[in-house]
This record gives sequence, C-alpha cells and structure tokens, in this order.
Amino acid sequence: MSQPQEQNSRLYQADGKPRSVGVIGYPIAHSLSPSFQNVAFEYHKLPHRYEKWEVAPADLPNFLEQVRNEGFLGLNLTLPHKQAALSYLDILSDEAAGTGAANTLFFHEGQLAGHNTDIAGFMEALKAENYDPLRQRTMVIGAGGAARAVVYALASAGANEIAIVNRTFEKAADLGEEMALRFPTCNIYGAHLDPAAWPFNRNPRTLVVNATSQAITAPDEVFPIKAVALSGRNREQRTIFFDLFYGKTPFLAMAEAAEAQTLDGLTMLVYQGAHSFELWTGLPAPRELMLEAARTALSAK
Ligand code: NDP
Repeated sequence: MSQPQEQNSRLYQADGKPRSVGVIGYPIAHSLSPSFQNVAFEYHKLPHRYEKWEVAPADLPNFLEQVRNEGFLGLNLTLPHKQAALSYLDILSDEAAGTGAANTLFFHEGQLAGHNTDIAGFMEALKAENYDPLRQRTMVIGAGGAARAVVYALASAGANEIAIVNRTFEKAADLGEEMALRFPTCNIYGAHLDPAAWPFNRNPRTLVVNATSQAITAPDEVFPIKAVALSGRNREQRTIFFDLFYGKTPFLAMAEAAEAQTLDGLTMLVYQGAHSFELWTGLPAPRELMLEAARTALSAK
C-alpha cells in the first residue's frame, strides 16, 4: 500500500527503516504498554515494534539524546521519568506544562515535544462510564504525579469542587493551592485525613479517584473510607470509585462490597496509549482491540 510522502517520513527513516518507538521506565518489566501498542501497529499493517527499555534516572539525558539523534517516532515515559524529562524538551503542550509531567514525547517540526495524554485517557475512561465531571463535587486520594493529572483533568472539565486527600497533608495542600490558582472557578483544596474532617458524608461526591501507588493494600487503614461511607446517600448518588491501578484492587473491592460503581485504571491506560499512538502516527487507534490485548496481558500476569 503506497503512503503519502509526509506520512512516510513521519513513520520511516530516510533508509526506509521504521522509526523506533516504545516506553522507558525504571523499573519497566511490568509495563503492559507493548501488549496493546503493538496490536495498534499490526492493525494498521505497520512494521514498527513498540519496545520497552529500562532506563535508570541517571541515564535519562543520554537516552533522550539518542531519541533526538535517531529521530524516534515517539516515546512514552513512566515512573520515574515523567517529571524529570521536562527540562530536556524543546516544547511542552499545555497539559504537560500544567501538570509538570510528560508521558508522551514526539517530534513537532523537528523539535522534541512533551505532552501528557494521561489527562485525555482519564477523561475518555470517565466518558465510557457516562460520567461528566461538569459542576460535580469530586475527591482525589493522592498528591503525586497521577493525582496532578487527575486534578488538572477534572478542573479543566468544569468540576465544581476537588478535595485532595493525601497521607502527607502538606503535599495535598500544596497541590490544591497550585491548581486553585490555575483554575480559579473550581474549589480545589487539600483535605485532612482525620475522619472528623472527612467531607465525604456531609458533602457527597459523585467521583472518588484513588491516585495513590499500588503499595496500598489496605486503603481503609490509610484513608478513612469505610464501607459505611460508601453506602446510603452516596450509593443513591451513584458515586463512582475509580482506582488508577489495574484489576480488582483492594480499594475497588472495598467499594464493590458497598455496592458502589467501580472503575479500574486499565481503560485509562489503554486510552492514554491510544492518544499517544494517534499523535505519533496520525492514524486512528483501534481502541477495542487494544483493550482486549491489555486485558489478556493483565490476566496472564
Ligand atoms: P507518585 O509516587 O507520584 O505518588 C504516590 C502517591 O501515593 C503519593 O500521594 C503518596 O503519598 C501515596 N502513597 C504511596 N504509598 C502510600 C502508602 N503506603 N499509604 C498512603 N499513601 C501512599 O505515583 P504516581 O502518582 O505517578 O502514580 C500513582 C498510581 O497511579 C500508580 O499506581 C500508577 O500505576 C497509577 N497510574 C495509572 C495510570 C493509568 O493510566 N491507569 C497513569 C498514571 C499512573 P505521600 O505524598 O504521602 O508519599
């Protein structure tokens, strides 16, 4: 199949070899991204292989130099590189600048650009559940990189209120202050973990997002989200409990036990990857096939 010249030079080097594409992290072995990205390349009959490379923090500058020199098709970044990479890039999208993190690199008119597709991935996952944050009261647990993307996404989408709860309160308060300045029409603030100060029962949320790391195996011991808080008024309001981690996490198991609506992070992961794929190739990502591949890869773990 012949392709337009522009499409060709975007996807292939001058000698006709496919440009490199993949994900870096430290560690990286756990990454599901190759499983669903390669399905997208195969679907479009492209010869590219989406790879995963383990890159230690000290090696990041050298790796990004290689990305420039070899003219990669694109790169995904995961922990711990999303923030650190910013200072090596030429241009940033509003989303990357606004969250201080890039998960997707690509070339724009010869410049190495950073974008954050976690935001679009998160929003698309919510949309698939028919949830619109517009004028809603929401809660985000965690104040790390993923929480930043979620707060940015919810505020951009017109949420009325975002309470940020975190083990280290100061980080929640700092993130709340920073985002409140950026989004003055949204009430964004750090909330305390003290159950007496827990706003959940008094002011029901329609969405509660767990954006803490997978280390948390007993969320109700860390955060006072008891099953009782998930029932009654909140159940009637169809609160969605969204864990950014994949599979049936302890957080979601607890929410399910209270018969709340739940959503895990796999769709967000696939959708952020779909947005990256579209940015790199200019081709539509086959989302259903990618989701299926991700589910298969996850169940094989
Ligand atoms: P960070 O390391 O930046 O932040 C970790 C957060 O978890 C902090 O708020 C930290 O609190 C909290 N935390 C860690 N351990 C504990 C604990 N034992 N008890 C209470 N709180 C704890 O990580 P990220 O924000 O980058 O990632 C968070 C999660 O989101 C990961 O599981 C990641 O896989 C997932 N993720 C999923 C995506 C998807 O597409 N589905 C996309 C991006 C991320 P403190 O400030 O007190 O240290």
